[in-house]
Amino acid sequence: MSFFSTRGGACVTASQAILFGLANDGGLYVPASFPALTAEKIAALTEMTYHQRAVAILKLYLEDFSLSELDDAIRQAYAASKFDDPAVAPVRRLDDQTHVLELFHGPTLAFKDMALQVLPHLTTLSARKNGEQREVSILVATSGDTGKAALEGFKDVPGTSCTVFYPTDGVSDVQKLQMTTTGGDNTHVIALDGNFDDAQTGVKQLFSSADFAAMADQRGKVLSSANSINFGRLAPQIVYYFSAYADLLKDGVIKMGDKVNFVVPTGNFGNILAAYYAMQMGLPVGRLICASNRNKVLTDFFRTGVYDARREFHKTTSPSMDILISSNLERLLFEMADRQGETVADWMRQLKEQKTYSVGESKLAQLQQLFSAGYADDAQCAEEIRTVFDQYSYLMDTHTAVASRVLRQYRQETGDDTVTVIVSTASPYKFAADVLTAVRGETAAADLDAFGCSDKLEEISGMPVPQQVKALRSLPVRHKARCEKNAMAEAVLKAFDGE
Ligand SMILES: *Cc1c(COP(=O)(O)O)cnc(C)c1O
Repeated sequence: MSFFSTRGGACVTASQAILFGLANDGGLYVPASFPALTAEKIAALTEMTYHQRAVAILKLYLEDFSLSELDDAIRQAYAASKFDDPAVAPVRRLDDQTHVLELFHGPTLAFKDMALQVLPHLTTLSARKNGEQREVSILVATSGDTGKAALEGFKDVPGTSCTVFYPTDGVSDVQKLQMTTTGGDNTHVIALDGNFDDAQTGVKQLFSSADFAAMADQRGKVLSSANSINFGRLAPQIVYYFSAYADLLKDGVIKMGDKVNFVVPTGNFGNILAAYYAMQMGLPVGRLICASNRNKVLTDFFRTGVYDARREFHKTTSPSMDILISSNLERLLFEMADRQGETVADWMRQLKEQKTYSVGESKLAQLQQLFSAGYADDAQCAEEIRTVFDQYSYLMDTHTAVASRVLRQYRQETGDDTVTVIVSTASPYKFAADVLTAVRGETAAADLDAFGCSDKLEEISGMPVPQQVKALRSLPVRHKARCEKNAMAEAVLKAFDGE
């Protein structure tokens, strides 16, 4: 399988797409074609473990990796020591029509583990395949979830290091503790005096600086990104859509060939794009429902065909979806443009220069044949957490609840009663204060810290506090570095030099 750029250029192998991250023309790498999984092959997944399902699907894309390499990478990524559920990505039943795909059983309690546990292994293999001798040094700017997931993924992986910048006052207490207590000899965490945009802009500047690349090179290092536009992050996400279908099949909820809807809490459009890829490969999908919070750029896009980022940015209780530029949408646009790179390049130019573009009536009609979209604000999200808990004794986190609420609206509007999978992207314990407030009201969480809220949630729900949260109470803070906005390069070099 070779890979092209969404903007027309490039033809690289899978390992190169993973190693380079972004194409030279600024586009994203897309596979030359979508490998097909026949009905028999999908049916065969029912008898496989998650690990076997992952190998069966990833090998179709990652053709320059040997089976034993993939097998090894996936075995390590989803080991029982890392995921606290033997099914890795279990499907829970709420009612006959409504099921929840839980993607939060990994080390950081959010769905990003599903890909970021695999990526480090794919990265080191890719480096080796392409004769890269230097240490692959990952740089990340995070608003919370990605940083910790990348740190856990790359921690102690030979031939790599991982340096994360987070905004000093821009992450939750649990998120900060999760990062600053990270173990491993190759991890660095730096608090930036600034906001997330400052961190992201600073990291982008480091990536595009030839001087900085030379200084890294002198130290035997090559910079790389663990960003969600990397194909190495997208590919492992395709697996769990097939896996969920296979589980529903196995449990007799559906018959082979029955279509299933997925509703996905969406930010950068990576997760739901993987569902689209799965469908292109033959997974029977009815509709893909894109759920947003108050930052509803995508809802508007799927309803009007106009992507318009000229709007106010809102901080919400589902922070991992607080995003106005959804980078991975570019890969969907590429398919909508019948794989014409110039068309995509043109839209992206308009987005950069005018912060808006329109795909036009006929493309919109095409998009709406498959996608629906909706949004929920913080109050609706809290109400949804309470409603679902009262009805099913099932506790959802704030991101998942946005999806659940959007599904409720979709069903009311359409009457569509197709079996639907709500994609659950985080453990409720990762956002314990907001979840507790939703279930028990404003006063319940008032005097409690994150641990107090977790204990209270456990008491109410009977769902045990995950080990990963409990451990944070006693883990020592190892990372105390801070830096100013204009001193990020020096901070990284200091980390590299072990000062
Ligand atoms: C990253 C994230 C999302 C958004 O996923 P995208 O792939 O960026 O659309 C949703 N929920 C949680 C908890 C996340 O961490």
